[in-house]
Amino acid sequence: MQITLAANISGPDDVTTFFKSDAEAVGLYRTEFLFLDRTAAPTEDEQFSVYKKVFDNLNGKHILIRTLDIGGDKQASYLNMKFEENPFLGVRAIRLCFQRPDIFKTQLRALLRAGSDASWGLMFPMISQLEELQDAKTIVTQVQQELRDEGVSFSTKHQIGVMIEIPSAAWMIDVFTQHVDFVSIGTNDLLQYTCAADRLNPELKAVYNPFNVGFLRQIQHVLTTCKKQHVSAGICGSLSHHPDLLQFFIGCGVSELSMTAQHILKTRALIAGLNAAHCKQLVQKIMTCTTTAEVKKCF
Ligand code: PEP
Ligand code: MG
Repeated sequence: MQITLAANISGPDDVTTFFKSDAEAVGLYRTEFLFLDRTAAPTEDEQFSVYKKVFDNLNGKHILIRTLDIGGDKQASYLNMKFEENPFLGVRAIRLCFQRPDIFKTQLRALLRAGSDASWGLMFPMISQLEELQDAKTIVTQVQQELRDEGVSFSTKHQIGVMIEIPSAAWMIDVFTQHVDFVSIGTNDLLQYTCAADRLNPELKAVYNPFNVGFLRQIQHVLTTCKKQHVSAGICGSLSHHPDLLQFFIGCGVSELSMTAQHILKTRALIAGLNAAHCKQLVQKIMTCTTTAEVKKCF
């Protein structure tokens, strides 16, 4: 079992915890925290120095950086976003970035400049169809051309990845894999959008249930397709350290599990006690279940 255990971070300060946690890489850098609780968007230079600090502090460890994921429960008043009845289904993440190319391009410029010598991957959140990934990649290429024209050094060797958080993208994974270097499953959102249950609503715990068969079939489809097509597929939502579902993800061939740093040592110990053949059998058994209760009994 060759599985990378990675940490999720929100900024340069988390890198100290990263080194204490025994993580091998950063599987998710939530860049939006730099944009929250302030009166104006961070400038390109401010972002550049923050991203550069993250790269420098990581000392060559690989990092996957997610572009801005604002909207949903994360709002920034200076963006003057319109009121939405259902913000989680609204102008969030990549959708906001397409509406505000000024904000998106500034972030990309800062990242590409800061990452010119780093080992990293750029990933886009809330992708629902291939066109969005293609448009995001086109904007990256445009920004690179602008930097080239200005004589500014920038990153060309980073990887490009897609977050799988929306069912319409999950079921097109065999196509997405042709266009990316890696895939990262955001289980917090994928579960919310698959079961149509608000991830923040405590009344819906029975519906927002990771043992839901339809949800697990979808994860199995994404992970096994990526494995077949030799594209690295990680999980960066909070199920990545679920003590029972770990076996399921491993049986499906997950490449990386990324979580808050404090869960890494415990997860490493749990993985050490697992048997690969048993994990595969467990997946086969779960694929025949028809109810959530039946799935639960498999563990
Ligand atoms: C996820 O949806 O699982 C994820 C990692 O993204 P976030 O929790 O930041 O929405
Ligand atoms: Mg998400």
